[in-house]
Amino acid sequence: MTEIVVLAGGVGGARYLRGVREAAARRWPDGSGGSTAHITAIVNTGDDAWLAGLRITPDLDSVMYTLAGVSDEQRGWGRVGETERVSAELREYGVGWPWFTLGDLDLGTHIARTSWLREGEPLSAVVKRLQSRWPIGIDLVPMTDAEVETNVQVADETSGSRLMHFQEWWTRHRAGIPAERFVQVGIEGAVPAPGVLDAIEAADALLIAPSNPVVSIGTILAVPGLRDALRSAPARVVGVSPIIAGAAVRGMADACLQAIHVETSATGVALHYGARDGSADGLLDGWLVDTADADAVGQLDAAGITTISRPLFMTDLDASAEIAGAALDLALART
Ligand code: GDP
Ligand code: CA
Repeated sequence: MTEIVVLAGGVGGARYLRGVREAAARRWPDGSGGSTAHITAIVNTGDDAWLAGLRITPDLDSVMYTLAGVSDEQRGWGRVGETERVSAELREYGVGWPWFTLGDLDLGTHIARTSWLREGEPLSAVVKRLQSRWPIGIDLVPMTDAEVETNVQVADETSGSRLMHFQEWWTRHRAGIPAERFVQVGIEGAVPAPGVLDAIEAADALLIAPSNPVVSIGTILAVPGLRDALRSAPARVVGVSPIIAGAAVRGMADACLQAIHVETSATGVALHYGARDGSADGLLDGWLVDTADADAVGQLDAAGITTISRPLFMTDLDASAEIAGAALDLALART
């Protein structure tokens, strides 16, 4: 059985995973619409937070809802057909973040998750229980069971600088306050969740979704042991650029890359991940750039990253599946 492992953030990760699932079904059909390949998604949990007494896991939820076909595609997040009656009540009490809406259907998920966590189950087990409701065809695994929360250091007139939760910076301030740096609070003591290292070791293809390179993929790679596991895995590591023609396709990844002094370009992100054979902690064997960035191919090939240019807009399922198929081809190619 072909084993595929994908590192993924939220919305970009979800769209890509839908493509990977479809590409696998086309390549290795099981005769009933699915695939004989096995797909594991290692998902960022750095955006998680405690809110109104509940543990919320935005990236895991984006991926689960999208793969289950119950996400609100128009709005870009949350459940389709969502209402916000409970959120309105919470606002009256001054509970939670007024700029962060918890939908009623979504709250069902948060309450279920939190009740299992409070019974002592680790997040990875909770995620398994949540996804057993929907046959999504991909095993979702949080990067770690530990509570890791991305904070953003921003300039402050009175105290010089201060930390705020990533969600406040991203959702409330729309990444409009210049970030000085990102801090993954709790990451030092974190270990990869059960199954993460085994999946990486057993993989035939290791894919990096076109997710935010700093706060989605960067956070996953910051879990102690995870980057080394990728670097020493037998399978090839192939990523897809989230940057096309010098701009993030959706969202504000630009503001994150600026903070870590990485150029917002397909080349900049590839060199930031690094060539597995080159830099001390590089991890890429292959990289896909958009046709608009075709002139990056020569430089990246020379740097030791086999690079292919092709259309990278995930406009629909077919386009996403073609992109994922190209990444799989590159990862499974043997020279
Ligand atoms: P988030 O956690 O919801 O912010 O989502 P991710 O981190 O998984 O993905 C966000 C990234 O996806 C953004 O930085 C975008 O550049 C990238 N992205 C979104 N749509 C596309 C697309 O159609 N093609 C490519 N190549 N990248 C995309
Ligand atoms: Ca996210």
